[in-house]
Amino acid sequence: MRLLYDLTLDELAAVLAEWGEPPYRARQIWGWVYRRGATTFAAMTDLPKALRDRLAEMFSLSPLQPVAERVSRDGWTRKWLFALPDGAAVETVLMEFTDRRTACVSTQAGCAMGCPFCATGQMGLLRNLTAGEIVAQVLHVARWLEAHGERLTHIVFMGMGEPFANYAQVAKALRLLIHPEGFGIGQRRITVSTVGIVPGIRRFAQEGWQINLAVSLHAATDALRDRLVPINRVYPLDALMEAVREYVARTRRRVTFEWAMIRGVNDTPEQARALVEHLRGLRAHVNLIPLNPTLGFAGEPSPPERVEAFRRIVEAAGIPCTVRVRRGIDVAAGCGQLRVEAQGRRPLIQPAGPPLPALRREGR
Ligand code: SAH
Ligand code: SF4
Repeated sequence: MRLLYDLTLDELAAVLAEWGEPPYRARQIWGWVYRRGATTFAAMTDLPKALRDRLAEMFSLSPLQPVAERVSRDGWTRKWLFALPDGAAVETVLMEFTDRRTACVSTQAGCAMGCPFCATGQMGLLRNLTAGEIVAQVLHVARWLEAHGERLTHIVFMGMGEPFANYAQVAKALRLLIHPEGFGIGQRRITVSTVGIVPGIRRFAQEGWQINLAVSLHAATDALRDRLVPINRVYPLDALMEAVREYVARTRRRVTFEWAMIRGVNDTPEQARALVEHLRGLRAHVNLIPLNPTLGFAGEPSPPERVEAFRRIVEAAGIPCTVRVRRGIDVAAGCGQLRVEAQGRRPLIQPAGPPLPALRREGR
């Protein structure tokens, strides 16, 4: 069975034309799916019964089987762990702020990039998600909000996986989400976060979109970044920053740089100054995130005074720099963490670490 959200409007229209249906049917079905939040074909009451039955035989509207759901103590973060039909698991998060309702979606089951501090990186890659599986996560959150009298306002591609390691499906999902007859969200309300895959950034820059880009930097020297973000060995800082500059030149959008602050590792004044050098003259924004501790990494979050000292150096250079509040620590809301927890793994005892915390792979 195919997932309906895997089809563009033209692809759906082609299927329906083959079935001898009139041309307006595809738009009608999209209206039900993306505007009215229908979760079954039976609910599409203005379609002929025979067509509804045929659609239900051929297409699925619900690929996500909820396995676990967590709500943070403050009630503002909600996280779902879903099983896909083949058993792969993905996480989706809803973060509510006073003025925003943000869905954080996964693009892969697992991730091959191997950043040692990241729970998803620690599990490796299982498979890419399809565009429809990404869109289905957004629709799930949107429907949940709708049922609670709210509306989804933003989407971030910051869940499990590296978006640009699954470029074609991610781009297709983005097209479905921004399509005026699809989900129809404004481009500036979407942010895609990448670990720094240079060809992906270049391609993204050429799409002609106004979608926001975030780059997970975490270190401003190749020596340190090689260790924290292993893909840096393939796309080192100079190549990465050149691609980012191209994105800014083409889109005139400000780029966000993410920096997980790890105590005594990347929270030094030297790193802050090296970061400032890389960002000179760029429309940038820096987001500092105190490390979310994970089972397989012995690093600790930087204490507030280290974060503040780092922030001051960046701001003094005229680069806006904010400290992101860690959301939903108590729901294991760091990407990949709920899946690990649901498998019943126990936290490792973390000994006082060497200068750079070592990656510990659990037997799997
Ligand atoms: N693969 C993409 C998007 C998913 S991760 C990327 O890496 O950008 C989303 C963000 O969470 C990234 O900036 C990532 O580096 C960060 N992150 C992952 N694990 C973290 C942790 N344990 N603590 C803080 N931030 C983390
Ligand atoms: Fe993958 Fe991003 Fe995690 Fe790195 S931080 S392992 S790129 S999901």
